[in-house]
Amino acid sequence: MHVRSDAVVLFGVTGDLVSKKLFPALYELTRRGRLDVPVIGVARSPWDDQQLVATARKSVAEASDEVDDEAFDALAGNLSMISGDYADPVTYQRLAERLRDAERPVFYLAIPPMVFGSVVQGLAAVGLADRGRVIVEKPFGRDLASSAELDRTLQGAFDPTRVFRIDHYLGKEAVEGLYAFRFANRLFEPLWNSEHIDNVQVTLAEGFGTQGRAGFYDTVGATRDVLQNHILQVVALIAMDAPEGDDTDAFREAEAAVLRQIEPLSPEFTVRGQYAGYRDEPGVAPDSNTETFVATRLTVDSPRWAGVPFYLRTGKSLPGTATEVVVEFKQPQRPLIPAAGGAAASANLLRFRLGRGDGITMSIQAKSPGAEVASRPVDLSVDFGAALGRRQEAYERLLDDAMDGQHLRFARAETIRQEWRIVEPILDLSTPVRAYDRGSWGPADADALAGGWHVPDL
Ligand code: NDP
Repeated sequence: MHVRSDAVVLFGVTGDLVSKKLFPALYELTRRGRLDVPVIGVARSPWDDQQLVATARKSVAEASDEVDDEAFDALAGNLSMISGDYADPVTYQRLAERLRDAERPVFYLAIPPMVFGSVVQGLAAVGLADRGRVIVEKPFGRDLASSAELDRTLQGAFDPTRVFRIDHYLGKEAVEGLYAFRFANRLFEPLWNSEHIDNVQVTLAEGFGTQGRAGFYDTVGATRDVLQNHILQVVALIAMDAPEGDDTDAFREAEAAVLRQIEPLSPEFTVRGQYAGYRDEPGVAPDSNTETFVATRLTVDSPRWAGVPFYLRTGKSLPGTATEVVVEFKQPQRPLIPAAGGAAASANLLRFRLGRGDGITMSIQAKSPGAEVASRPVDLSVDFGAALGRRQEAYERLLDDAMDGQHLRFARAETIRQEWRIVEPILDLSTPVRAYDRGSWGPADADALAGGWHVPDL
């Protein structure tokens, strides 16, 4: 049994991630009785405790329909601020002093990756790395080499069992639901292979642009921001074999094993796009070749998936926001029942909605009414929120898990290495990005890639 963390330290407490996700998560954990320990914010900005509490209140109010004052006051009573420079040893001495009674603090690095190194060294210098846990956000490096370098920095200070690498998709209940769907049902697993599946499509669409973070986004792009981590994580859950045991190690090994079987992506089967007007946004280079859209084809080199293409796409300023996996089955071996009204035969589909309103839709063929023996597609659909109740937010679960020292929903170093290996050939391509209109599904070439994308439920 791991010792639960007895303090939380948020580096970069003045930033976007803390205000959008972490304050609401801390509040929810407090409300559920899972958090009653000091929460220390660290940043260079000269904030005092009142400013910290006021910001937390605002972000909790924005994230919740109704704020439970008692729970918020309990959280506020635990909040305190340390302002200081990350290069200044005094910042860490003050932190060590504030944490003198904490046995197992958890440090959340909600800061730009270029400052990870100074913070980790600063913590090590005052002995805090020896007893703390560290949570690192994506992007975990910029490529294979820099992610290995980051691992060396972290593991030079923290024991590997106390490093928690966030890919928040692993913390989403809807994404975890893929795993439950596959291995808690007998129904589909026998069909989960190239004999029955024609292709798999994964779409992670954002109906918005860079939301004021264009300067940051321009150094990253869609492949690094989303494809390398979230999308490959989803692919791993769809494509993996059943773990050999029911523990964390077995799960993470099965996930790494399927990633090892994925072939590096090919520039030839990759289409990169950029939405119209992106280059005019503040912080974006006027000649930027950063992709705000990427579509590609992936193959898994295993007997199970031989010849089954996985089509992946993600982009900003698309027609709406949705994350979906569509598994398209093959047509019946002997097509005895024609499609009604002479329509083209349509395949059975399993559509996993992983975003808001998550659920599953299964498209089956049903007999069309009338004298003719013909079929047409109908949907069997379930909305998990309506059927099962409220889902926990990813960051709430991830913080809770890291405080407990549980790694199940965090990425292993090898997983991240494999993900970088897979995307490496399409990083920093010099071929010009294709322009696309805002509100469209990306450049026309991307349509040709998959020979027909299924439009997500928006
Ligand atoms: P921000 O750009 O908002 O930066 C967070 C804070 O870091 C800032 O408030 C600032 O605080 C401090 N900071 C900024 N630049 C520097 C610098 N050069 N040196 C030292 N401190 C600096 O980042 P986010 O909150 O958006 O993201 C934090 C981390 O989480 C990043 O690693 C990001 O990649 C990752 N992430 C963010 C997501 C999001 O939705 N925002 C989603 C997924 C991952 P101050 O100046 O007060 O010190």
